[in-house]
Amino acid sequence: MRNKISYFIRSKLLPDSVFLIDGGKKSKTLYLTFDDGPVQGITVELLNLLDEFQVKATFFILGRCAKSHPEIIKAIHSRGHTLANHSYNHPPFHKISLKQQLTEIFTTNKVLNEITNENCVLFRAPQGRWNIKLLFQLFRLKITAVHWSRDSMDFRKEQPSDIVKRFVDDPIKAGDIVLFHDDDPRCIQALRTLIPLWQSQGFNLKALDNKHY
Ligand SMILES: [Zn+2]
Repeated sequence: MRNKISYFIRSKLLPDSVFLIDGGKKSKTLYLTFDDGPVQGITVELLNLLDEFQVKATFFILGRCAKSHPEIIKAIHSRGHTLANHSYNHPPFHKISLKQQLTEIFTTNKVLNEITNENCVLFRAPQGRWNIKLLFQLFRLKITAVHWSRDSMDFRKEQPSDIVKRFVDDPIKAGDIVLFHDDDPRCIQALRTLIPLWQSQGFNLKALDNKHY
């Protein structure tokens, strides 16, 4: 209950520049986001699928994976998607100090900058575990904290058809920021059905801008 209340306060009362939870309902846009990559054998296949349907997405990458696979980071970047920060090692942020949290963020931004020559100003906390001190620091640093308004629940490792069914039963809304994970190929199989479905419903699938909202 306490979590639900604090989530409500963050999502409804904090401005987008502090805590971005959806892209606004004005246009029929959908923002796919992929956490925990890049992963060899999965992320590039996902990029091929996104190219096939001419859609752009946002990749919340882990610094340690980016360090191991700079070529995949370059591919994400050169194919027009947005790179964003999801910490270096994916530690539980509620169990480490604010100083350690910021080190995770800075180290990852440095890795991204070395590969792309651009400053990343989007961050998503591991497991979406935010705290108010971190949100304040991010605002001061002009980094936007990006959450999601819709969870694919792909972390449950169900069949891709179950992921699809959840979106059919409870359709997405304009402006939704949708959470997926590119550390498992099941999201690719589900999206092969979902992307054309959403496009047929008139949704534009875009990447978030790398900017302080
Ligand atoms: Zn994650």
